[in-house]
Amino acid sequence: AKDAGRGRCMCYEPGMDADRETRNELELDLRQAIENGDLRVAFQPLVSASNREIVAVEALVRWNRPGHGAVSPDVFIPIAETTGLIEPLGLYVLRRACEEAHHWPAGVNIAVNISPGQFRNPAFADQVGAIIGETGTDASRITLEMTEGYLIQNPERARQAIDRLKALGLRVALDDFGAGFASVGYLRQFGFDRMKIDRSLVLALDESSRARDMLQATVALARSLDIPVTAEGIEREDQAMILHLCGCDELQGYLFGKPMPAEAINAIFAGTDGA
Ligand code: C2E
Ligand code: CA
Ligand code: CA
Ligand code: CA
Repeated sequence: AKDAGRGRCMCYEPGMDADRETRNELELDLRQAIENGDLRVAFQPLVSASNREIVAVEALVRWNRPGHGAVSPDVFIPIAETTGLIEPLGLYVLRRACEEAHHWPAGVNIAVNISPGQFRNPAFADQVGAIIGETGTDASRITLEMTEGYLIQNPERARQAIDRLKALGLRVALDDFGAGFASVGYLRQFGFDRMKIDRSLVLALDESSRARDMLQATVALARSLDIPVTAEGIEREDQAMILHLCGCDELQGYLFGKPMPAEAINAIFAGTDGA
């Protein structure tokens, strides 16, 4: 690894390198992938808790790194966030989702994840507006999902950014609820249209009966603010039943469908239409 230091400044410290080396290589390859249009988008259904029909589809980015295979978004999204690559990446995913949504029934909503790095840019709302215009998408079909991080860091700016997006007619959801520190009060404070319960809370149902009481109370609080709740990471029928009983109106998880290529989700809708 030492000769990999060629051409670098003399302050190169051999001790900290492997990690940084890998990160730099990952970043370079990711940059290439974005430039070459090599990223893919997978689509996962969200179903109505009452009749199990597909009510929305979440777009999830996928990267098949040459020579390494599939890299998890949990690995490369944080790198994209610290390098500015998240901006082109995020806009690409939004555009792909809007393009594919033409193949879905008009009532099926589009969910797209956004990171603070995108959201922080004052031009973001305009960029989103441009994509909606160019793809001819009804803005009210789109829900942007965001996690709490930036809300805590910079509540003032976050509120403004959310307001700009809502002014375009988009909806916003608080993602990964229960995985961090966000409280139900955030829903009102930031004007969220939906809350998504993190998979960790769903898994906790297996551990204790208190988990169920807590989940039920949390969902009830959100609903008392008129904010509907999606539960994520549902893999079993018993989980689906409990979350429905707790008041979640939408469910998402492998039980209903894994993230799949565009052709596969489109085929599901084509089949439904033809039936
Ligand atoms: P997320 O937004 O919470 O997305 C849900 C994750 O849970 C996805 O992982 C999905 O594949 C996985 N999942 C769904 N149902 C189940 C289930 O029943 N069981 C289990 N074990 N997992 C399930 P994925 O696709 O690996 O994405 C991980 C995270 O990366 C996402 O979490 C999101 O935070 C981020 N991410 C993915 N795509 C994008 C993107 O386009 N932009 C941004 N900013 N972040 C993204
Ligand atoms: Ca999400
Ligand atoms: Ca989530
Ligand atoms: Ca997550």
